[in-house]
Amino acid sequence: MSDDRRVEVGGSSVSTLHYIGGRRVGSPSSFEDRSPLDWSVKLADVARGDADTAAAAVEAAQAAFPAWAALTTAERGEHLHRLADVIDANIDRIAEVECLDMAMLQESLRSRVIPRGAVNLRNYADHALKHEERVWSSKGTANRVIRMPAGPAVIITPWNAPWMLATWKLAPALAAGNPVILKPAEWSPLSASMLGDLADEAGLPPGVLNIVQGIGEEVGAALVADPRVARISFTGSPEAARHIGVAAARNIVPFTAELGGKGPLMVFADADIDASAKKAAGQYDDSGQVCLAGTRILVEESVRDEFLERFHRYSDAHVPGDSREPTTTMSPLIHPDHLASVDGFVRRARDAGDRVVRGGRVAEVDGRRDGLWYEPTLIEPASNDAEIVQREVFGPVLTFQTFATEEEGVALANSTPYGLSGIVYTTSRERAERVGRAVRAGTVWVNTFLVRDLTAPFGGCGISGIGREGGDYALDFHSDLKTLQILEDSTG
Ligand code: NAD
Repeated sequence: MSDDRRVEVGGSSVSTLHYIGGRRVGSPSSFEDRSPLDWSVKLADVARGDADTAAAAVEAAQAAFPAWAALTTAERGEHLHRLADVIDANIDRIAEVECLDMAMLQESLRSRVIPRGAVNLRNYADHALKHEERVWSSKGTANRVIRMPAGPAVIITPWNAPWMLATWKLAPALAAGNPVILKPAEWSPLSASMLGDLADEAGLPPGVLNIVQGIGEEVGAALVADPRVARISFTGSPEAARHIGVAAARNIVPFTAELGGKGPLMVFADADIDASAKKAAGQYDDSGQVCLAGTRILVEESVRDEFLERFHRYSDAHVPGDSREPTTTMSPLIHPDHLASVDGFVRRARDAGDRVVRGGRVAEVDGRRDGLWYEPTLIEPASNDAEIVQREVFGPVLTFQTFATEEEGVALANSTPYGLSGIVYTTSRERAERVGRAVRAGTVWVNTFLVRDLTAPFGGCGISGIGREGGDYALDFHSDLKTLQILEDSTG
């Protein structure tokens, strides 16, 4: 089954098949991919990979490994730059497909998210080149630390940022010399498929990038169980990470996991209250389907009323609608099952005695409430142990709590099992340093949000993840580090 099968999505022709060894390959069965913008619209029947698909993809990656690993860092970098150039030439097309497939705002995709794919690739092409092997003398030997390419890397991504995360994860793997098998999420598989076409256009050698489509528990599980896989880089839920971690442990394979979050957004009385309230209402962007979102608003008691008044004003300005329209600020949720999950959290909160302060139901769009939009929702929990405080909702649902002292605020911030991100608003430099250090999270932003330096470490504490990506951290992960020791004066 190697003839390509393609569908028209927006203005683009997109393959519905796997991309293995530089060829389009099918599977006996398929799964449906629908658009969150209008669930009655079926975008594609996508190949549903199985154990054979996984084995073929790993084989193709393994076959490509020696030649890819043998290239110099600069030569691999040239390939990544070419792929980045091809991405840049196709930004509008990719944005249109991603918007129909997972409904992130099209303008944001076009201006920020899709170009970031090219930035990710260029960043790693150039960053890998800057690496200098550590060399030092000790105990009569010359010591040198060498990065050896590790082998085929499996990359598994979630549905909420398919393009950004695929490119963020495959760039360091490829730069380090590892061929990749990418498995996108089954709810938003199309932009990853486009990567296959772009890789062809960029002349990436066959087998260096392989893309398999399908269900996590099927082809995903088969991939991570394959003993020929040398690295597993996963982004998704803690639940799936537990299964993948078991498979990685069986084969003793290094595994990174970027998982869910329940970030605090802390506002101190000395903060710019308007800026903090605006940013808090901005946590509804992308309908809250953002792992890094500050979903627990924690405000110092003395500024509670001022904060809430401004927060509601900014939240009221959100416009749910078609993500392709420039006036829309809130996209629909990805899938009816996800809408039911988000609504279930809110219903259970109500039943448990938490107070729904705003929102709390399916949103009205064009006079109807039968779409996948959910109202920007704010809940005052009855206690800090409430499910709505302790578990990631991954929708436009925020909680609101107050604190009397900095210590109490920090204790609340650190009171969930997650630790991905935190946001702090204060104008005190001392407090910024103190609280920034005290909040247990992989990334803490003070008076800003989502600003990233791609060389900085990125990851989570607690059930938010294992390992770090970004800069050298991801290159080290994708390499086997070797210490080479040569007895001094023993060689010419
Ligand atoms: P998910 O865990 O259900 O699925 C993620 C991916 O894993 C999908 O491709 C899925 O097919 C695959 N998968 C599922 N079970 C598998 C298994 N047993 N073996 C192999 N693969 C398997 O997550 P999701 O619902 O797609 O994404 C939402 C989650 O991702 C949220 O928790 C969110 O916070 C998290 N996320 C984290 C980050 C981060 O950087 N930390 C970024 C984005 C999303």
